[in-house]
Amino acid sequence: MEQDRDAPVALFLDDIVRLRKPHPCGSFEWTVVRLGADIGLTCKVCGRRVLLPRRELQRRTRLFVSRGSGFAAAQRLIAEQDAVDAQAREPAAPDPQPATTTSETGPNGI
Ligand SMILES: [Zn+2]
Repeated sequence: MEQDRDAPVALFLDDIVRLRKPHPCGSFEWTVVRLGADIGLTCKVCGRRVLLPRRELQRRTRLFVSRGSGFAAAQRLIAEQDAVDAQAREPAAPDPQPATTTSETGPNGI
């Protein structure tokens, strides 16, 4: 199966992307500051703000340096959904036995 290069990538505010070509200031890294049909990016070094069509940005992006809080939230939602699905699939799992900790009496000092 060939990889679909045009498949939309989920972008979130505060994502930091590394592009294939450097900005004239020398930076490869940009912070996502605006989402929409055009993606707003701020250069990590000089602070210049640009708008790139989503497709164009996808074409130019090499990798995500880090993901914004929206990404973490989305991952959490997916994980929660997976947990719900897993619960729906499997019958109730037995409760794990509580760890029995016998409180040890200290050595008799005297
Ligand atoms: Zn720059």
